[in-house]
Amino acid sequence: MSSLSEQFARLNQHLQQLAQQNQDDCPQLIAVSKRQSVNAIRELYAAGQRAFAENQVQEARQKQEQLQGLAIEWHFIGPIQSNKTRAIASTFDWVHSLDRFKIARRLAEQRPIELAPLNACIQVNIDVEASKSGVTPEACAALCLQVSVLPGIRLRGLMCIPRKTADPAQQLDSFQRMADLQAEIQQKLPQLDTLSMGMSDDYAAAIAAGSTMVRIGSRLFGERN
Ligand SMILES: *Cc1c(COP(=O)(O)O)cnc(C)c1O
Repeated sequence: MSSLSEQFARLNQHLQQLAQQNQDDCPQLIAVSKRQSVNAIRELYAAGQRAFAENQVQEARQKQEQLQGLAIEWHFIGPIQSNKTRAIASTFDWVHSLDRFKIARRLAEQRPIELAPLNACIQVNIDVEASKSGVTPEACAALCLQVSVLPGIRLRGLMCIPRKTADPAQQLDSFQRMADLQAEIQQKLPQLDTLSMGMSDDYAAAIAAGSTMVRIGSRLFGERN
């Protein structure tokens, strides 16, 4: 086994172990392949991984072309510019970084009719940091309600990138506020089933708070180019 396949196996084991400790289902692993090679994606695919995430449309389109024919589920996790919505709507299965209604409406209008609705998470700026995108926690419920009625989009839940800290208690605090916010919004939108949270350095805390999708890059592939 190569080191990438080995790391993939170890990471899956760790995710399962954390989920068991938490008496919860194992979260889905989204392999964040931004700035990683097509060969690395192929190798994880051969090992059974199907969900891959990219944060730049141009880079993603190149990889999608080279990987045509593989049953990859593509997740978009980067900032969404208006002039990129058509490419995203036609080539991705999920977006995790939706934070404006105008963009949601474009994605919904541009989603090709022959494809299933685009799965979407609303990105929440959970620690209200000036440097981060995402809707504020206060504005989140209203945006969810607006997006939830758009044909062409299937609203699935919330996503966050919390404040960077190595303190597990602070990590947990941010993720728990996300879980509380999701529970509050579920009272009006019970169909929401996804909490996209947890990256290489904080996925244990995210799982303890009930994450259903972890987005992991460097801890899986190694450092990015
Ligand atoms: C890059 C990125 C990740 C993965 O980050 P790692 O620390 O490498 O695991 C997850 N989510 C988003 C939105 C990202 O941009």
